[in-house]
Amino acid sequence: MDRLNGSARLMIVSDLDHTMVDHHDSENLSLLRFNALWEANYRHDSLLVFSTGRSPTLYKQLRKEKPMLTPDITIMSVGTEITYGTSMVPDDGWVEILNQKWDKNLVTEEASKFSELTLQSETEQRPHKVSFYVEKAKAREITKALSRSLEERGLDVKIIYSGGMDLDILPQGAGKGQALAYLLKKFKNEGKLPTNTLVCGDSGNDAELFSIPEVYGVMVSNAQEELLQWHAENAKNNPNIIHATERCAAGIIQAIGHFRLGPNTSPRDVTDLSDCKLENVNPGHEVVKFYLFYERWRRAEVEHSELHMEKLKAVCYPSGVFVHPSGVEQSLHDFVNAMGRCYGDKQGKPFRVWVDRVAPAQIGPETWLVKFDKWELSGEERQCCLTTVILSSKEVNVSDGVTWLHVHQTWLNGSGAKDHSA
Ligand SMILES: [Mg+2]
Repeated sequence: MDRLNGSARLMIVSDLDHTMVDHHDSENLSLLRFNALWEANYRHDSLLVFSTGRSPTLYKQLRKEKPMLTPDITIMSVGTEITYGTSMVPDDGWVEILNQKWDKNLVTEEASKFSELTLQSETEQRPHKVSFYVEKAKAREITKALSRSLEERGLDVKIIYSGGMDLDILPQGAGKGQALAYLLKKFKNEGKLPTNTLVCGDSGNDAELFSIPEVYGVMVSNAQEELLQWHAENAKNNPNIIHATERCAAGIIQAIGHFRLGPNTSPRDVTDLSDCKLENVNPGHEVVKFYLFYERWRRAEVEHSELHMEKLKAVCYPSGVFVHPSGVEQSLHDFVNAMGRCYGDKQGKPFRVWVDRVAPAQIGPETWLVKFDKWELSGEERQCCLTTVILSSKEVNVSDGVTWLHVHQTWLNGSGAKDHSA
């Protein structure tokens, strides 16, 4: 992880299904709340790690369906695949470790003798993971018998039952817990051990995450019986693990507050964003705040007042330029005027805006270059603009915030060059 020069202030290691992502929240509000909190306050000095049972194929599918942020590290297939960054570069050292005492063909052959096991789809069979479905009632018994027969064949494997249906066979050294332990060891060797680590989960395959020493843990309110039972038997007296009262990503935000790991108020929970005055300039927060206001303006969730537009103009440099993704240039003030005319055009409609990968770089004593992905969801349609903004705290002639000097947007590949008003 070369993005950060030193230790991460906070590393969040979160499961996806029913933890970061709430499949019962069609508006994805808790996820969007987490996203705003993360990009405004943590992205610049912290690490986001997704640890999922999903294979790369199903993980990528989920990313298309839900407004998920881009993690710094992705651990997939129940801790058997670790990748880094946006381009998802695999960790070869981890592959080498997992190859020890592992023979996928032998595992498949032995497991095929159990008629109660139904093989999962081809995409879920991975180099270090063989996956089946098994009925909940039979899971314990089958796991025991299978474990015995694999041992007799000289294999050292781990069998994990999760979600009340998935049975995964992995090398003994694999799993979400060991993958995290491997990462922590790697950071320690580089002198970059995160100051705090928070693990988040809801089901059986997450249990291992909670047994790593010196991490904080949150079982979201909707955690499954299998995880709660594991906790009752193994970690009941650990004060660093809580069972949240909030579901999914809201439970993660709750845990950040409970363990005092840093700011825990999502900008989405702040009604009057102009009230957010900070002691220091925080470019990430400025960007999140602006796009949240933009969403609320178009959804008519803020008052239809000229005052809002006057305030916006006051923080735009008079000769500042906005470069539309189509290549057309206009002044920032004209951009604000155009935005003013869009008030309420998305009222009552599924319209959301969020930012991802906010990367601020200080390029002068009072000047920041901020790069990020701006996402807009309108009904079924989703579009992304790679965006660059120049902010300055020098030209400030109003009491709050910074001045916007320049905004440049480019369509992300495949995002479609459809003209949207702003
Ligand atoms: Mg889960």
